[in-house]
Amino acid sequence: MSTAPYEFTNDEYEHDARWTAVDAYSVSHLHPPSRPNTAALANALKHLAAEGLPDDSTYPAFGKFLALQCTLGRVSHVLEVGTLGGYTAIWIASLNPNIRITGLELDPHHAAVTRANVDAAGVGDRVEIIVGPAIEALPKLAKEVEAGVRPKFGFTFIDADKENNWAYFEAAVGISLQGAAIVVDNVVRKGNLASSDPGVLATGPVQGARQVVEEAGKDPRVEACVIQTVSEKNYDGIVYAVVK
Ligand code: SAH
Ligand code: MG
Repeated sequence: MSTAPYEFTNDEYEHDARWTAVDAYSVSHLHPPSRPNTAALANALKHLAAEGLPDDSTYPAFGKFLALQCTLGRVSHVLEVGTLGGYTAIWIASLNPNIRITGLELDPHHAAVTRANVDAAGVGDRVEIIVGPAIEALPKLAKEVEAGVRPKFGFTFIDADKENNWAYFEAAVGISLQGAAIVVDNVVRKGNLASSDPGVLATGPVQGARQVVEEAGKDPRVEACVIQTVSEKNYDGIVYAVVK
């Protein structure tokens, strides 16, 4: 179940019985299985696992948090870099009935699973999926925004190949509304973001995370912070930035 304690077991993630219990308790009250999107979310996870996609979807409380961020900002257009099987897209679209999502996805199989899942969830007419490397799609989106044929985005979720985080962030800033939020997922990486081991710091995903933190701190176009999260799924966290 999407709203029950996390189903997959992935040895790469860090678990703690307290984190899992707190998610189980709070989600059971704040998003109980009677909610309209429960079945769609559960089916999306089931389908993506059956299709052999990796266990890299966000976790329920965080999917809902992203959706609520969009509600708070009265967002109409969302950019998601890396859709996997559409789990986060379903959270955002199902809690925000008028929102439109543009998803960039490299892998045609992942894109096909996203399409099937968002369609099955009844939100597919509001989800556009652009298949290919995000680094190629983003300049095209920028041209369309510049030409006035595509609206700027009110919220961006960057969750793809971590090495390119900063390139995606920079591109997103250019096509964001003033006041838009940009969230970069998986930057804390069980604390490796600030590891004392140079070998750990040299790995691609950690470099990609540190580059966003360091560059965003120098970028006058945004204000940003890192929020660490523990959950039923892992110890990780995000860069949360707002475009000035
Ligand atoms: N945001 C999703 C999970 C994304 S997992 C969710 O929360 O539900 C990361 C996804 O990024 C994978 O599907 C992967 O294929 C995609 N990806 C990896 N490299 C990419 C690239 N260069 N361009 C676009 N997508 C990419
Ligand atoms: Mg992620």
